[in-house]
Amino acid sequence: MPVACDPLVRLWYYVTPNDTECWEWRGHKNHSGYGLIRVGRKMRSVHRFAYEAMVGPLDPTLDIMHTCDTRACVNPAHLRLASTAENIRDMIAKGRDNFRGKAQARDRAGVCGSGRHKWIPENWAPSSDGRRRCLPCIKERSAKKWRSPVLDG
Ligand SMILES: [Zn+2]
Ligand SMILES: [Zn+2]
Repeated sequence: MPVACDPLVRLWYYVTPNDTECWEWRGHKNHSGYGLIRVGRKMRSVHRFAYEAMVGPLDPTLDIMHTCDTRACVNPAHLRLASTAENIRDMIAKGRDNFRGKAQARDRAGVCGSGRHKWIPENWAPSSDGRRRCLPCIKERSAKKWRSPVLDG
């Protein structure tokens, strides 16, 4: 790949735009799955670069959020400026990485994933993967026959 060539040319070399789907960057990605593009001497997030190139200037106080959840996507229709707080709220709403994070925080605080039961010996049993299972939660779940997906506490 010719390093000197215009980053915009490189953008379209690694991205195939189409009408409806995600325009996925096929170039270099970081460990979180976000595309990276070299601009001058710097590596930049490709979705930020693409937003700037196609939509307009970035606001340094705002994040770019993917409405499609495809981190390597640069389709401007799937990108929107959002505050970090909004971005996090969106993640929580979509229940992506966050449920686990919250459950782990509660676990450290000494309560089960639902936040309603203390980790006292009579409340938990080890599961096959070595995590603690909250017995009151399990009881409640089977009693109520919840139809929502069961999230481990
Ligand atoms: Zn997309
Ligand atoms: Zn519980």
